[in-house]
This record gives sequence, structure tokens and C-alpha cells, in this order.
Amino acid sequence: GLDARLIVMHATGMTHVELLREPERILSPGEAETVSRCAGRRAAREPLARILGHWNFFGLEFSLSAETLVPRPETEMVVEAGIELLAGVHAPLIADAGTGSGCILLALLHALPQASGTGTDQSAVAVDTARKNARALGLDGRARFATTNWLDGINGVFDLVVSNPPYVMSGDIAGLEPEVRLHDPPAALDGGRDGFDAYRILIPQAAERLKPGGWLVMETGSGQHNMVTSLLQDVGLVNIGTGRDMAGHERIIQAQKP
Ligand code: GLN
Repeated sequence: GLDARLIVMHATGMTHVELLREPERILSPGEAETVSRCAGRRAAREPLARILGHWNFFGLEFSLSAETLVPRPETEMVVEAGIELLAGVHAPLIADAGTGSGCILLALLHALPQASGTGTDQSAVAVDTARKNARALGLDGRARFATTNWLDGINGVFDLVVSNPPYVMSGDIAGLEPEVRLHDPPAALDGGRDGFDAYRILIPQAAERLKPGGWLVMETGSGQHNMVTSLLQDVGLVNIGTGRDMAGHERIIQAQKP
């Protein structure tokens, strides 16, 4: 399958095309050892992204560390919505609260050459990873990062605030797949007793820092849109819209500062 192919590419340094062209190529002893070590870790339910140390998101490659979530394909919806909402905004300013690997902010900056932005994370390790990713993608001239909670101490106003905050109810963490439960950072998953702790802090902060007409776009868990909608209404945000993923689950929510 795909995992096996990616492991062989990782061990040999071959591209996918090279692998298809030379299916009979014999592995060196060192390569064979790497393949068997990686395959063993995968068999023990370690995610391939953790074994490889990097993962693709929105067509770009992101390095990972122990304190960053593995970027999920559903989260690309946040990027797509952001790109759409910023169409026609000159030199937009973006903030990504809880940036992790920096994948949402950096994908936006890559797609929007006039944009610049700030990513925050409570983890200094995550901030280091995000900075490394910004440099590797040649986006470090337009991306800054700060170690802080959500938007604490972040000055300035933004055209777009994005976030994939932790939203899993504390009591549900134990029931997640081992790939997630044992390998994603708990702080990036655990949304507190009812799952809404991060939204309660982030939404009022974002409302304060948005320019009039600016947008907040966040990922949510399935079934969380009613509660998040009322938190958005509580701080006076308008034009609330929601997006479902391919499985039909509520996945993103957006709202505008009047
Ligand atoms: N989508 C993640 C999961 O698979 C949760 C990420 C989050 O809490 N933001 O559990």
C-alpha cells in the first residue's frame, strides 16, 4: 500500500517515479534495515507522518515535532475558506492561533503572495518547528511566530484570524485511535470537559483583533456548530457560515466582524 511505498522512498531517497521505474532494485543492507525499522513502528500503530518526520498539507511539505499535530486533510478546508474570504483584500494580515507546524498560516501565505501573518503557539517546540517550516518554504520574510496562548500579547489588527484549536472533550481522548491518542500532543486535542475551552478564550480575542469586515475561520468537531455559533454571536460577530467535510460532518465555521 501507500505506507509501504512511502517507507521505501524514505529509506532509499528514491522518488515515487524512480520507484515505479525500478521495481526490482535491490535494497542495500542499510536501506533494508531502515525499511524494517519503519515498518515495525508502523505495525505498532505509530502514524507514518511521525515515522517520516514530515507530512504533506495543501501540497506543501511540513516538518513535524512531538508538540505539533499531524496536519489533517480536513484542515485544508480552513485554508480554502481563508483564500476565498481574502479575495480582493490588499496585502492581508493573518493571525493563526495555535499554529503547531505552521501549516495553516504557511499554506495561506504560499497561496497569497501579498499576505503576511503571525502564528502563535503555547509550545516553544512547536514555534521552532513552525519557524523551520517557514524558512524551508521561503516564507520566513512574511511569517512571524510567537510563543503565547492564543492571541495573548499579539498587537495589531487582522483581516483574517484562523485556528484549528483543540476541541475533543477530555473524556473522549481515551477512545481515540492509538495513532492520535499516543502520538499527537494532548494539548492540541484536549478541548476541556465539554470541548469548548479554547473557543471560549479565542473567539473574544479574535473579535477584538479583527478589522471591521475581517473574518474568523476555525475548525470544529462534528456536532459543535450550535455552541460555537452562540459563542460567535455573543461577541457580535455576524454572517456566520459553516462547512461540512466530505464525510458530511460539520468541520469549519466562519464569522465576520461587522
Ligand atoms: N481532528 C483531530 C482528531 O482527529 C482533532 C484535532 C483538534 O482537536 N483540533 O481527533
